[in-house]
Amino acid sequence: MLLVDVHAHLDLEGYEKHGGLDTMIKECVHNGVKVIVTNGTDIASNRNILEIAKTYPVVKVALGIYPTHCLEMIENGKEKEFNEELKFIEDNIKTKHCVAVGEVGLEYSEITDLNDIKKRIQKDCLKKFIHIAKKHNVPIIIHSRGAELEVVELLEEESMKNHKVIMHCFSGRKHLVQRIRDNNWYFSIPCNVDRSLHFQQIVTDTSMDQLLTETDAPYISPVPGQVNRPDNVLHTIKKIAEIKKMTPEEVANIIYANYQKAFL
Ligand SMILES: [Zn+2]
Repeated sequence: MLLVDVHAHLDLEGYEKHGGLDTMIKECVHNGVKVIVTNGTDIASNRNILEIAKTYPVVKVALGIYPTHCLEMIENGKEKEFNEELKFIEDNIKTKHCVAVGEVGLEYSEITDLNDIKKRIQKDCLKKFIHIAKKHNVPIIIHSRGAELEVVELLEEESMKNHKVIMHCFSGRKHLVQRIRDNNWYFSIPCNVDRSLHFQQIVTDTSMDQLLTETDAPYISPVPGQVNRPDNVLHTIKKIAEIKKMTPEEVANIIYANYQKAFL
């Protein structure tokens, strides 16, 4: 089966539980995983994942800065470093070492002393990432928590309708889910879809050509408390197959075609 994970973090800790990164990636390939898009979250992470991708052809790289790290950088006067990182990301897109911009977005719920300035800073940073994705016509992988409406509005303001936008693990309300569908964006469905009525509903209401699969490994394991791994996208494939009354093979083929359409 052709399996695709459009959102993982291979540079994070925890994979010792699966015999280490090398063993795990080889097992994933053996189990049918064709692509793991590993997402960068800060300057160090972006470099680490570029290194990992050199060793494993199955690993593709999305470069970005997680919204709380953007905020941290700007608040600590590191605007110059931030802008240099944007240039680094663009350079890597030009050389095809980077296939997407991500993980970027807005994170309001992790910040205890959230205020309008902090929201503004995050939005300004996200706009810069959006401009890069648009300029180079690469997908953008969007994180949004506690800020689902703001993310959708910002992307619309920046004329991202019909662009390759991937909403990672989207937990916004039904009317926002509908807006995302109307804008022709993708939902990447995590493997806790087995136990999440919210994601089951998104799958039910969304046509197959707007669905992708992800793990967010090492997070969001289908079994709570375990370290997630890219071949667990099979859980998502099986659940989508059940909901859409298709075979897992049919679902996997469509998701793979969607991946090709979005990333290649
Ligand atoms: Zn993530």
